[in-house]
Amino acid sequence: MSLVTINDLISQPPEILAKYMMWAGDLLDMYENFVRDDDADVSFTAGWNGAKSRSDGIHASEMSGECRRPVYYSLKKVERVDKELDPFWKKRFRVGHVYHAMVQEDWRRLCESSGGLMSFEREVRIDPKLQLIAEQYNIKSSCDGVITFRDQPWGAAVMRIALEIKTESPDQFAKLNEPKLQHRRQTCVYMRCLDTPICWTQYINKGNQNIKPSKHPFLFSFDHRLWGEIENETKDVIRLATINEVPPRVEGLSCEFCGFSEVCKPAYLAKAKARANAKVQRAATQKRLRSNELRQPKTGGA
Ligand code: SF4
Repeated sequence: MSLVTINDLISQPPEILAKYMMWAGDLLDMYENFVRDDDADVSFTAGWNGAKSRSDGIHASEMSGECRRPVYYSLKKVERVDKELDPFWKKRFRVGHVYHAMVQEDWRRLCESSGGLMSFEREVRIDPKLQLIAEQYNIKSSCDGVITFRDQPWGAAVMRIALEIKTESPDQFAKLNEPKLQHRRQTCVYMRCLDTPICWTQYINKGNQNIKPSKHPFLFSFDHRLWGEIENETKDVIRLATINEVPPRVEGLSCEFCGFSEVCKPAYLAKAKARANAKVQRAATQKRLRSNELRQPKTGGA
């Protein structure tokens, strides 16, 4: 009896699935207890890749948003560019990368301390050379980690859980009652490619380091319906790419950090730029007016 593959969600009796889901629900307690008892000297490497070094192929993050154009541009091998990205976003992403590296290192050490009952694989590669489904759609990505539970030290795997680490601002964290849709879609791609039956989206509050529970809805099993949607959309974009028909833009906040905005030129960014310029102009005008007032000789008085 195990919960190792997506097929196990169908082939195992409900009471076995419930038992494993309960077990998986302890992930947060395990993590908190590990951090509480941890007094080791620790160092870890954190880093990130620039847009240019990203490999070609479709990335799970491009399949997760509302806009289909990033998948189209990826299929057309359009180069991603992020040098125009607002430093506000760059700084946020950098902090996110450091959190990821720290939490991945925690999970690695936690699993190492289990004496072979658990193991952790970080940055699990999704690549056409490794998985059939990735080959079918030319998906190149990586999942933050996969935690494997074993029935005895270094024995057979009995449960596999995909781990997706997400950092949120205190305000966003407070509003979060379930994983964001784009994160559900992104993890659905990972789960399908890596054949993992369960996933925990480990949301972390960047303000106070609180973490959302490893329970429903943040802990969930593979969603066949959602995968069907993503797969159909991807097939449709592949069809459009073969006839050189660009899918419609779906503009919004995601345009601000889209690697294809230079070629896509969404009106959203032009408007945002115009608003930012107007704000700078207003501030400069107010500054000029204030300094003129200060230069005016004071009149009146007895
Ligand atoms: S810039 Fe916006 S509209 Fe254009 S591809 Fe990116 S997300 Fe879509």
